[in-house]
Amino acid sequence: TPVVVAIDGPSGTGKSSTSKAVAARMGLRYLDTGAQYRAITWWMLHAGIDVEDAAAVAAAADKPSIVSGTDPLAPTITVDGTDVAAPIRGQQVTGAVSAVSAVPEVRTRITELQRSIAAEAAEGIVVEGRDIGTTVLPDADLKIFLTASPEVRAARRSAELTGRSGGPAAAGADVVATREALLRRDAADSGRKTSPLAKAADATEVDTSELTLEQVIECVVTLIEE
Ligand code: C5P
Repeated sequence: TPVVVAIDGPSGTGKSSTSKAVAARMGLRYLDTGAQYRAITWWMLHAGIDVEDAAAVAAAADKPSIVSGTDPLAPTITVDGTDVAAPIRGQQVTGAVSAVSAVPEVRTRITELQRSIAAEAAEGIVVEGRDIGTTVLPDADLKIFLTASPEVRAARRSAELTGRSGGPAAAGADVVATREALLRRDAADSGRKTSPLAKAADATEVDTSELTLEQVIECVVTLIEE
């Protein structure tokens, strides 16, 4: 039977890198659900919809066609046929995504999409996000919740944004700004009413603060093989 793995947690915990590597190693498909929320946010901004206007966002939630390619070695994301992989990582989308993803109609739409992608993955799938273990795939075979200290997460995010390799040297003003933006997004994601960022009761928590990426991957692979 196919293996379904849910990997949740806030950003900067190594969620995407871990999920992709585990999927590639285990021969599973891979779904980045954050990219789907980013893609619908990109479309809203592009369409001139005020993202703070929940009613307007709700009314438009069904309009864009969002397609995710689930090869862990080359994941893709398109909106109405346009490749949005690059623009969804920009500051504009990052700043607006929490507001858009808090709208229940958006979550219903994207959750349905996620469930159908998982159901179609005959070989099994690793799905990463914020509410996968609690809401999207409560019957997942394995649930992982990744955490890391705010300092470590901010340093990793800054390194990612500036293309550096991270490490203790990454401690400039940009890290402070990144840390604040990251904590603001976590607070919004954790505080929303509909399926907030949360650890499922049956999830295994892995604190990645002191671990290398390779160690986190090994840890998850071992849990799958158990
Ligand atoms: O993982 P990533 O940082 O790309 O996610 C972007 C945003 O998408 C999150 O801050 C959150 O607002 C939203 N999201 C969500 N539920 C998920 C995945 C992401 O609400 N399962």
